[in-house]
Amino acid sequence: MTPDELARFRHILETRRTELNRAIGVAQRDAQDAVEGVDEAGDPAVQGELADTALDIGTRRSDEYNEIDEALRRIETGEYGHCEVDGEEIDLGRLEVLPTARTCAAHARSAERSRPPTL
Ligand SMILES: [Zn+2]
Repeated sequence: MTPDELARFRHILETRRTELNRAIGVAQRDAQDAVEGVDEAGDPAVQGELADTALDIGTRRSDEYNEIDEALRRIETGEYGHCEVDGEEIDLGRLEVLPTARTCAAHARSAERSRPPTL
């Protein structure tokens, strides 16, 4: 990967991290609002469900946030864009679709099967 390409992926990842930061904050506020709303009006069960959903979204986004942090760390160490199974360069098209990819397409199935899908 050329320095230009690396810089481009760094920018994509940093932009995504900024968006997630905002989204996590909103999800946490929604959860807080739902919890506080229980006393005021409506069905407590529904309010609780809303809070659970908002927290769940926040958690899943936090997972993606960690993935992005990890990818940015790999850019710093020069590991980014290399399959962590065989060390081969990951196809650029694959990184375009999944900038946080840790493995090449051939090794993705076994490595990512254990992880739940992200939003
Ligand atoms: Zn591989």
